[in-house]
Amino acid sequence: MTTALILGAGVTGACLALALSRAGVCVTVIDQAAPASGASGASFGWINASYSLTQAHFALRAEGIAAHHRLSRRLGTHLWDWPGCLWFDDPAALPEGYDAIPLTAAQVRQREPLAPDLPALLVPQEGAVDVAALTLAALRASGARVLCGVKAEAVAPGHVSTAVGDFTADHVILANGCGAAPLVGLPMLRRPGLMLISRPLPRVLRHILALPGQDLRQDRTGRLLAPLAAQHQSDTAETVADIPGRIAEAEAALSALLSHPVQAESVTLAFRPVPGDGLPAVGALAPGLWLAVMHSGATLAPVVAEGLTALITGGTAPLLEPFSPARLLEA
Ligand SMILES: Cc1cc2nc3c(=O)[nH]c(=O)nc-3n(C[C@H](O)[C@H](O)[C@H](O)COP(=O)(O)OP(=O)(O)OC[C@H]3O[C@@H](n4cnc5c(N)ncnc54)[C@H](O)[C@@H]3O)c2cc1C
Repeated sequence: MTTALILGAGVTGACLALALSRAGVCVTVIDQAAPASGASGASFGWINASYSLTQAHFALRAEGIAAHHRLSRRLGTHLWDWPGCLWFDDPAALPEGYDAIPLTAAQVRQREPLAPDLPALLVPQEGAVDVAALTLAALRASGARVLCGVKAEAVAPGHVSTAVGDFTADHVILANGCGAAPLVGLPMLRRPGLMLISRPLPRVLRHILALPGQDLRQDRTGRLLAPLAAQHQSDTAETVADIPGRIAEAEAALSALLSHPVQAESVTLAFRPVPGDGLPAVGALAPGLWLAVMHSGATLAPVVAEGLTALITGGTAPLLEPFSPARLLEA
């Protein structure tokens, strides 16, 4: 039986474990900490194709939305919400060919009474997922052996060294987010992501809101999720200054927007795994050694898992071709 060792029990490693297991591969996952302890445990979880950098990126992200629906048929639909997004930002920022319906301010008010009194675009195909819950559900459904507290210190085709001994497998896959950079010399951008999670509120929002300077959604528990970076998916800040000040500012701004007191219950900070040119780095590094590192992993993990599984089991994945890691490692 073909064996695979996945580094990283985040959403990428978990979706890959499930896809490989379903293809008949015997999978082990190791994580230096625990499942969803990296970016996947601190994600906004918005599934979208809005922030596409190239046409190929748009095609991958659009298929990423479809891959979530395929995955939800396997894992149960309870992890996902598909409310659509109200886009108040610059319409020109949406990719060409992306479905978006113009709404007047009155139509917006009818759908989302507390949203700003402005026209917007409705992007009906977008949704959100609890990324940590998806990670755990995919790992559980995969039947893979998951070893926590095991850090990869060096990798080679079919081989991983750790402090508790060496591992071998037919295929080693680095799905360990920012942790992949030092192991294979992958250039990465430094992109800290800070997010406010509020105390539960009565239902105040139905849609995901993309406002200039603030993305926002309310999850199933009533908590608001609010990344504290303007347009967080295209944010380029390398540091986060004055965290207490930003939290207080966000609480005040959200309370004013929603006419309801909003208080932070917790704040998460995680580095987003952004390869050097901003695009996913997915594919072979050498025979038996693979890489899957990307931002927007909440959107992309299921489609990348499908494609990488096809490649590992001898098939093709045309959507992944433009994202081969060679472009970054050979530069
Ligand atoms: C604030 C914020 C908001 C976001 N919002 C969105 C969004 O709305 N939509 C979207 O699509 N994406 C979003 N993202 C990005 C998305 O969450 C990430 O791209 C995705 O979670 C990455 O998942 P991953 O499994 O690749 O990496 P991670 O979740 O970081 O997992 C990597 C795992 O590898 C382990 N690890 C690292 N090094 C080693 C090692 N040497 N050995 C063993 N294990 C190791 C870590 O412990 C970790 O568990 C957001 C991210 C943040 C931080």
